[in-house]
Amino acid sequence: MTQKQLFSQDSDVDQTLLADVLVIGGGPAGTWSAWSAANAGAKVVLVDKGYCGTSGCAAASGNGVWYVPPEPDSREAAMASREALGGFLSSRDWMQRVLDQTYANVNQLADWGYPFPTDEEGKPYRRSLQGPEYMRLMRQQIKRAGVKILDHSPALQLLVDAEGAVAGATGVNRQTGEKWVVRSHSVIIATGGCAFLSKALGCNVLTGDGYLMAAEAGADMSGMEFSNAYGIAPAFSSVTKTLFYNWATFTYEDGTPIPGAGSQKGRSVIAETWITQPVYCIIDKASEEMQVTMRLSQPNFFLPFDRAGINPFTQRFPVTLRLEGTVRGTGGIRITDYTCATSVRGLYAAGDAATRELICGGFTGGGSHNAAWALSSGYWAGQSAATYSHNLGVQANQRPVQSVGTVGFISGSEKQIHSEDIIKATQAEVFPYNRNYFRNEQTLTESLQRLHSLWDEIRNSQVADNSNIIRTREAAGMVATARWMYSSALERKETRGMHRHLDYPQQDANQQHHLISGGLDQVWVKAAPIQEIKVKELVTV
Ligand SMILES: Cc1cc2nc3c(=O)[nH]c(=O)nc-3n(C[C@H](O)[C@H](O)[C@H](O)COP(=O)(O)OP(=O)(O)OC[C@H]3O[C@@H](n4cnc5c(N)ncnc54)[C@H](O)[C@@H]3O)c2cc1C
Repeated sequence: MTQKQLFSQDSDVDQTLLADVLVIGGGPAGTWSAWSAANAGAKVVLVDKGYCGTSGCAAASGNGVWYVPPEPDSREAAMASREALGGFLSSRDWMQRVLDQTYANVNQLADWGYPFPTDEEGKPYRRSLQGPEYMRLMRQQIKRAGVKILDHSPALQLLVDAEGAVAGATGVNRQTGEKWVVRSHSVIIATGGCAFLSKALGCNVLTGDGYLMAAEAGADMSGMEFSNAYGIAPAFSSVTKTLFYNWATFTYEDGTPIPGAGSQKGRSVIAETWITQPVYCIIDKASEEMQVTMRLSQPNFFLPFDRAGINPFTQRFPVTLRLEGTVRGTGGIRITDYTCATSVRGLYAAGDAATRELICGGFTGGGSHNAAWALSSGYWAGQSAATYSHNLGVQANQRPVQSVGTVGFISGSEKQIHSEDIIKATQAEVFPYNRNYFRNEQTLTESLQRLHSLWDEIRNSQVADNSNIIRTREAAGMVATARWMYSSALERKETRGMHRHLDYPQQDANQQHHLISGGLDQVWVKAAPIQEIKVKELVTV
């Protein structure tokens, strides 16, 4: 299969499916989208880059959830707790809706048989979901609801009709190499965030593909400056679960404790130290009783230690910070109303693929909001896409359509590049702490120049390893994401949320707005006032 051949003609396609709603991505956001669309009567196809139920970052983790019973004081405290951390960019009406929907959906999981543990008083504890059990249950439920799943089938391009409305997608099966097309009335992007192949737990399938495809169809992003989340991990492992480091002491190589590393701003101290010397850690503040509970609650946190023969409670080990980008950042595709519609007709976004500023501004804190957003926005996107598809009428899948987004597929040039080189060059701009964790005007400008050149290169060259179109599109997704990130970061001349700008270390009241970004060959950024993105009734069919 060569790049030029791929999807250039319909006869080249191995499998064509028709659907009302196509869901791209099978994590929590995608599976909730698929379930609610099917529940609203839509015929649904879900495609995943990996195996739906095990792929993505939720499947690999224990997920704290923003599950707050509907008691006014608890709800008020839950909403107030993160507003300052997020730089006051969130909206109360969105928070309330997410709290309500999360409460309902998590209770639905209990009704489906999710094995929630009980607390000391015997009450069910519903604030945490174990990824493997959660996602296995979601896969079962969507199959039961009649959703057709294509595993190992990354989407590569969106299809649009003559008016630019989104009408399906094309992709390839990574195991068989077969090309597929799904013609659908509407599409939901639930492809997660972008962690730039940093090897963070569960994140190596998250390469910004959904952002790229959405932008190619004309959608824009919001909050892409809030994209520099890094997770603490043992230097020899990919496990970025961070909760247990609350019971840790961080030290220099000689064993002296690093001042401030265990505080709320500890990650900044670790990053700062790491720029010049290695950082070590020991989880020495957990009682013996706690150690037992820790092992029971997060068994895979301990796997890399057991393999390396290290007892993290008694032995020091080296740590690093691994980039999680927009996965535990908050930027993503801009949604325009409560239906989770994007600015392009027929296209919806949910989960980490969509901006989470609406509920947590520029900082997600220690989890829980992401999981709540994924299941709530997925639920709404599914319901809305089903309604939109129903209103479009049964003939919609006979519309003439074409694929959009040519980068990686077509080039007029004979110049050759390698996807892996593009990926390494992009990582060199986004991994270093002194470029991305701590930002300044000079390094952002220099990085952006190089990233723009990389885009031109990938746009105007034949990709040499052209048998692997999936990798080429991943490389293009990462370059595009990095350009929106750093263009937005340059524009936000202040420090707010997770965006730390060394030239402007204070939060500036005049910049309490969102930054919208977009464009492919020409990237643009503009400020948009904080507004309550208003109600468009969710009418079910
Ligand atoms: C280590 C770790 C711990 C975390 N802990 C918490 C926590 O405690 N609480 C919390 O709220 N959040 C937590 N998060 C974040 C949370 O896991 C995510 O917010 C959540 O998983 C988002 O769900 P999602 O469905 O949007 O994305 P994901 O779960 O990442 O799923 C995305 C899916 O899209 C698929 N995909 C990607 N590209 C394509 C393509 N081109 N075509 C088809 N499919 C594609 C992937 O294979 C994947 O299955 C954690 C994240 C990490 C990394």
